[in-house]
Amino acid sequence: MDFQHRAGGKTGSGGVASASESNRDRRERLRQLALETIDINKDPYFMKNHLGSYECKLCLTLHNNEGSYLAHTQGKKHQTNLARRAAKEAKEAPAQPAPEKVKVEVKKFVKIGRPGYKVTKQRDPETGQQSLLFQIDYPEIAEGIGPRHRFMSAYEQRIEPPDRRWQYLLLAAEPYETIAFKVPSREIDKAEGRFWTHWNKETKQFFLQFHFKMEKAVPPPGGPPPPMGVKRPAPLMTGLTPQPPSDPMPPPPPGGMHMPPLPPGAPAPPQMPPQMPPPGGLPPHLRPPLSADGPAGIPPPPPSS
Ligand SMILES: [Zn+2]
Repeated sequence: MDFQHRAGGKTGSGGVASASESNRDRRERLRQLALETIDINKDPYFMKNHLGSYECKLCLTLHNNEGSYLAHTQGKKHQTNLARRAAKEAKEAPAQPAPEKVKVEVKKFVKIGRPGYKVTKQRDPETGQQSLLFQIDYPEIAEGIGPRHRFMSAYEQRIEPPDRRWQYLLLAAEPYETIAFKVPSREIDKAEGRFWTHWNKETKQFFLQFHFKMEKAVPPPGGPPPPMGVKRPAPLMTGLTPQPPSDPMPPPPPGGMHMPPLPPGAPAPPQMPPQMPPPGGLPPHLRPPLSADGPAGIPPPPPSS
């Protein structure tokens, strides 16, 4: 007799059903076990569908109740799929290395917020020139540096839509955030005594004052002609608002800067001081007179004769 080619020749592999428990008993036992050990709501594959029954999103099986689903999760099919999924993810993971961390932190300092400030509007009683005096308090300024400033045109800044009627005065001093003041984009008088800065290292206060140049009697757009003796009405000075600093507006680099060329077709930029003051302070003739009533006081504007 040839038993070699008998169908089902491999014997002895039976006995799966030889266990005494029935499938029903087995499922019930697994369900009880699962109910005790598994939080079904944390199962990423558990889904209740719109028909009120339950699905295994991993195996795409349908279950009439939670117990049935839980029993399924303990079964061979689900466990095999879980292992297969895990192996697949492990295999794919090295092929997709995490994107290299983008270097965002280029600043040397951890910013500590905005400095306190005070702005004073003044008008020269003799020339009628309007001026702005800025006092910025930098009590925590980093060792060995001084505040810097620069003017920025409406077209260079990227904080708000450009408006040619305004320009921005930026003040930077690490580790403070750079702040900007929105001022009318009128020409600034850079004559001696009309524009000065002063850094008081003792009180850690920075002062900057500039005068607007007197303008020809051109009425501002949309406004009534200025009254006699005042070339610009006061309302134009009311737009002083510190602008929140942000990354698109980096602090000016030390060592001076220049305005980049404006895009073709853009209106002419307002006149800007060409450079930052030299490190180490201003030449003596630009130093403001210090007030006699203590270092905390704001120095008065230079005398005009
Ligand atoms: Zn499953």
